Amino acid sequence: MKYFAVRGAISLSENTKEEILSKTKRLLEQIIQKNRLEYQDIVSIIFTATRDVDAAYPAVSARELGMTSIPLICCQEMYVENSLPLCIRVLMHVQLEEERELQHVYLGKAVMLRPDLARITIAIDGPAGAGKSTIAKLLAERLGILYLDTGAMYRAIGLKVLENGKDPSNPQDVVPLLPDTDVSVRLEKEGQKIFLDGREVTGEIRTQEVSYAASCVGTIPEVRHKLVELQREIAKKVSLVMDGRDIGTYVMPDATLKIFLTATPEERAKRRWRELKEKGINVDYNTILEEIVQRDANDSNRRFAPLRKAEDAVLIDTTNKSVTQVLEEIESMLNS
Ligand code: C5P
Repeated sequence: MKYFAVRGAISLSENTKEEILSKTKRLLEQIIQKNRLEYQDIVSIIFTATRDVDAAYPAVSARELGMTSIPLICCQEMYVENSLPLCIRVLMHVQLEEERELQHVYLGKAVMLRPDLARITIAIDGPAGAGKSTIAKLLAERLGILYLDTGAMYRAIGLKVLENGKDPSNPQDVVPLLPDTDVSVRLEKEGQKIFLDGREVTGEIRTQEVSYAASCVGTIPEVRHKLVELQREIAKKVSLVMDGRDIGTYVMPDATLKIFLTATPEERAKRRWRELKEKGINVDYNTILEEIVQRDANDSNRRFAPLRKAEDAVLIDTTNKSVTQVLEEIESMLNS
């Protein structure tokens, strides 16, 4: 027999008996299901609860699930200043005949406890100007995980094509450049840095011309294959929020949570117009609206991995919502 220990945690929304029992049950069921465990594999379970949880013993839920002959004990988690409140933790000892890699399970706000153990991936898709990057950046910050802006990668290729004097909408111009194009990102707590052939282009890619070039090169399958490979490679290793057009449908179909953010084209154009104005750039509102409609068409009508809502994504229309409202909506999904 081989001996293992599996960790898990879940956050509660309130200190009530129903909440404690139902959330602990959910945590235990997920640990068992994700690790293909039988009750007879479980040697013992230690539960801890933060000091603000006292309406019930979490172990009761294990008994209710039928774990009547497994030794269980509940303890109080030591209090640490500013730690996650209303949280139940589990340490489950198991014995198995064979060597097996076990998955630790962190649910709700508890994902923040160990993003290194329980990888959390959040996909945010939607059209230009829907608020993806603002929301994704803040969400990643709050969860203490990384943010990957995939649009920046398409922009880097768009920039390369423009710098070479080529037409970004012509695959015969773009595809031959790809073998000699190196796009890489450095994900840092302060934000993402993007490099094109070893040169940092984080600022340079934020022009209207590059935006349009990016949406043109994004319709070319060879470009998408190259970038999706890189995106999946990054997502394999870390917990992150990734935003783009095809993240929930194609890049990370198994994401922990998928969000599709949208807003009316007029509202999106208004936001872009304001953003540019704040930077001292004066562009005609109608020109921006036209460009947004054109980019939407490029993104939604391309044959390969077009922009669309994944069936299991949650749709959020941000037209009349503040950033805080949208963030709270997403956080409550993570916490449910
Ligand atoms: O999001 P952002 O405006 O920076 O993206 C620039 C362009 O890159 C988009 O208009 C879209 O055409 C393309 N893109 C894409 N797939 C992604 C991200 C961006 O096709 N995952």
